[in-house]
This record gives sequence, structure tokens and C-alpha cells, in this order.
Amino acid sequence: MNVLVINCGSSSLKYQLIDSASEQVLAKGLCERIGIDGAITHQPAGKDKIKIEAAMPTHTEAIALVLEQLTHPENGVIKSLDEIAAVGHRMVHGGEKFACSALVTDEMIAAVESCNAFAPLHNPATLIGINVCRELLPGKPMVGVFDTAFHQTMPKKAFLYGLPYEYYEKHGVRRYGFHGTSHKFVAQRTAEILGKNIEDLKIIVCHLGNGASISAVNGGKCVDTSMGLTPLEGLIMGTRSGDVDPGALEFIADLEGLSVKEILTLLNKKSGVLGLSGVSSDFRDIEGAAAEGNEQAAAALEVFRYRVAKYVGSYVAAMNGVDAIAFTAGLGENDKVTRATICSYLGYLGLEIDPVANDMRGKEAIISTQDSKVKALCVPTNEELMICRETVALVK
Ligand code: AMP
Repeated sequence: MNVLVINCGSSSLKYQLIDSASEQVLAKGLCERIGIDGAITHQPAGKDKIKIEAAMPTHTEAIALVLEQLTHPENGVIKSLDEIAAVGHRMVHGGEKFACSALVTDEMIAAVESCNAFAPLHNPATLIGINVCRELLPGKPMVGVFDTAFHQTMPKKAFLYGLPYEYYEKHGVRRYGFHGTSHKFVAQRTAEILGKNIEDLKIIVCHLGNGASISAVNGGKCVDTSMGLTPLEGLIMGTRSGDVDPGALEFIADLEGLSVKEILTLLNKKSGVLGLSGVSSDFRDIEGAAAEGNEQAAAALEVFRYRVAKYVGSYVAAMNGVDAIAFTAGLGENDKVTRATICSYLGYLGLEIDPVANDMRGKEAIISTQDSKVKALCVPTNEELMICRETVALVK
């Protein structure tokens, strides 16, 4: 069956039409600048990208245009909308209400709305996508796949903050984790590549992109992850700080005269490797600057990689061992130096990187030596395919 996968942001929308039987992408694209002016980039499989400027005052026009392109006589890949069997929506925050993907119903939408406070920018955008699809594709079965769901198996000792318990009880203040669809896909694929049953494996997934998080997956279940109530906690990211002493924030606020809102903007948008390097949030730019002798850029890379290695160490403790460490997302898939440097901290585990196997980008590969006690892998993530699979499982 053909599944339309929708990833709806506040002013953009990504889509893929996937044939679930062959798991082939039939077409994919992106609507940008929704509510501003609007443009759609549409790419049917095996053909060139087509970019069309078109007014998109709201998500309704954007999704209408996506459906028009999918059925277009030249750019289209299906004859009619009847060939779309189901829609899978990428959802952000499902709180404690969603430990797995869910069929879209009025009750499901109300439950997602009750989690909006946790992700005030992202959750409402995903709900707009659902509502527009309900309007334009009436009666079509739809599924919501949550970024937080995979991490709902974390035990209390991993998800509670050292805060008064009443804030957890009253307001749901706890660690939730994000990138769950990616962590789940990569953990499953890691087991497949190793030819082992996931139930028998302890896997650490390092999702290293502009947003970065790491998870400990024991027997196929997430037992800990680095992001928290929001996607700000944990690793150092492109523009996000990751873990910081909360006391430092009052110190900076007082000295710089910043409000809480301004501090949060600083932590989300101006920190991470961008703030550290003073060069860019893009690792390629930072690596370029470091290669030319920029010491601040080199330090930013070191701080980033060291933090990942420290988290790996803590997750080895969380699982009392590790069988495999998988690298994924923009940096994890493409940057052999980052992979090798992180692994160089982990020799004590009996992890030995194979420089020849690691000398590639964007491919599935075991990058540790044959004798390495702990396996290291590069596993390109595919969140859209995971959303397609989850949708099919629920719709069937
Ligand atoms: P993502 O958010 O998963 O799309 O990842 C984006 C990040 O991956 C950016 O910071 C890129 O600089 C980084 N990235 C992509 N390709 C490479 C590469 N060949 N070498 C280093 N970093 C890369």
C-alpha cells in the first residue's frame, strides 16, 4: 500500500509517498515559507526536482499542492488520491500518553493537545497537518508517530529529575527524550546488520545531527536517553547548549541583563558548537576552520565529541555493558573523524575502530575491527520509512 508520510513544521512541511511493500520512495518533497509566500520542491523518484513558487497562506494550500503534485499528469506518481492508502504523521511530543504510535481519532487529537504545553511550537503544527489531511483526504486512515514514544520504556530512575516530586505529579515535569523514531529504526537495523536478535543486544545509538541525542537500548527497549522534558538537554548540538549548570544561567542573566525568555533563546539558538566556535552551527564549516588553525573551532569539536563519549560511558553503566554502538544522522553518518575520535575514548571497552571500514560516508557499515569486543556501526537513519512501517502496522 502507498503511505503518505507528512512531517509538518510551523512554516514548512516535508512529505514522502512510500510504497510499503517494496519500501521504495515514490516521490518526496518540501513546502517552505508557508504563511509567508510559499514554494514547493517536488521530486518524483528517478526524476529531477521541480520547484514551484506558489502562494501558501496556510498549511491547507500547502497540502493541497502536495496532493496536486502527487497526482499531476507529468510530475505525479499516482493517478488518483485513491492510491494513497493511509497517512503517517510525524508527531513531536506525546507526553506519557503515547508509548507507541496511535491511530488518529478525535480522542487521540485531544490527548495530543493536552501535551501541547511541552512543545508549544511543534505540537500545534503537527495537529494542523492532521486536521488539513482529514479535510482534504476524508475517511483516509491516519496514524501519529511520536518522537517521544520509543523512550517511554525508560524506568523512573532514568526519567525523574532531582526536583520536588510534586512537579512530576502535578505538571509532568520529567525526562521524555526525542528522536525516538530514529533511535528505534537504527537500533532495529543495527541488530539486523549484526545478524542478531535485538532482544539479546545492548545497543547505544548516537544520533548526531544538528540536533543530537543518544540512547541506551537494552533488549530492544530504551532504558535511557539524553534529551529531557525538551530537546535542549544532553549533548552539545548545532545551536543548543545541552547540559549546563542551571546556576550559570542566573549568573549570565544578572551580568547580561537577560530575561528567562532571552536565556532560553541563548541556550536554544546561540549556543552549542555555534556559540563555542563562533564560526557556524554546521560541523563542516567548523571542521574547515579548525583545519585552518582556528583554535576555538577545534575546541568546539573536542567539547562536542568528548561529551558524546562521556554519555556513551554512562550508558554502558546504565546497561551494565554494551554490544554495539551505532552512529547516525548528518554527522554520525558522514563524519569519519568524529566517529573515530569518539571511539578512541572507548578503547577500555575493547572497542577498536577499523580505519579502512570507517573511511566512508552515508552507508551502512560495521566500522570496528573483526576482533573488536564492542561493535561500532554507521547506520543511516530513515525516520520516514519507520513512520511508514508504524502506519502500516496500525492500519492493517
Ligand atoms: P542533520 O541534522 O542530521 O541533517 O545533520 C546536519 C549536520 O550534519 C550538519 O552540522 C552538517 O555539517 C553535518 N554533516 C553533514 N555532512 C557532513 C560531513 N560530510 N562531514 C561533517 N559533517 C557533516
